[in-house]
Amino acid sequence: CGIVGYIGQKDTQEVLIEGLKKLEYRGYDSAGIAVFTNQGLQISKAKGRIANLESKLEETPLVGSAGIGHTRWATHGKPSDVNSHPHTDNSHKFSVVHNGIVENYLELKDELIAEGRHFVSETDTEVISHLVAREYQGDIVKAVQKAISHMRGAFALGVLTEYEPEKLVAVRQASPLIIGIGEGENFIGSDIPAILQYTRNVYILNDGEMAVLTKDSVELMTIEGNFISREMIHVDWDA
Ligand code: GLU
Repeated sequence: CGIVGYIGQKDTQEVLIEGLKKLEYRGYDSAGIAVFTNQGLQISKAKGRIANLESKLEETPLVGSAGIGHTRWATHGKPSDVNSHPHTDNSHKFSVVHNGIVENYLELKDELIAEGRHFVSETDTEVISHLVAREYQGDIVKAVQKAISHMRGAFALGVLTEYEPEKLVAVRQASPLIIGIGEGENFIGSDIPAILQYTRNVYILNDGEMAVLTKDSVELMTIEGNFISREMIHVDWDA
């Protein structure tokens, strides 16, 4: 029920965990993160409290310069380690966190299975990672746009691919998402408190909009791909 994302030089795992803790009030049954490490995109996730995830990470830390994190409120598939986010595809090159519901996921799942893709979870979210992988032809932004053109429902997404480790893609469609702007680093979050300890400069995404973050830039566009400009908001309150 909460999303965070980070790209920059800080300890990514720590930024994600701190952000997820700020989102705890939204309620959740499991938590997880995906980080670009020097062994590629690695995922750690666990049912239950964020402390469960933290003890996994204590044993096997994920060290890297970009990542996405999630606290889940299960809608499709029971709370379990495997149903926790982030989700990935069969190549393990893509990673997705999702808030909301993909209404037509059963239809999409059947289609993807018929195409030879193998599912490991019971979630609606897993169709998104397989769709992005299927649509990928060298441009993660286009792949995400194509994937969501097949999806109906409510979603806020954070997407990473090992093929373009310098990019973090975020989408908002009927679930909240904001972008935090730093210096040499950028953030996404379900709400402002998730990132407020790192930056006070934010963009609020509207429904039907997406963002492409690198550590030095943020591009905003509609999900159809038309670039938009937005005034940055300076947050002067404390969480
Ligand atoms: N529908 C997704 C799931 O059940 C996402 C739920 C959420 O927003 O946390 O995994």
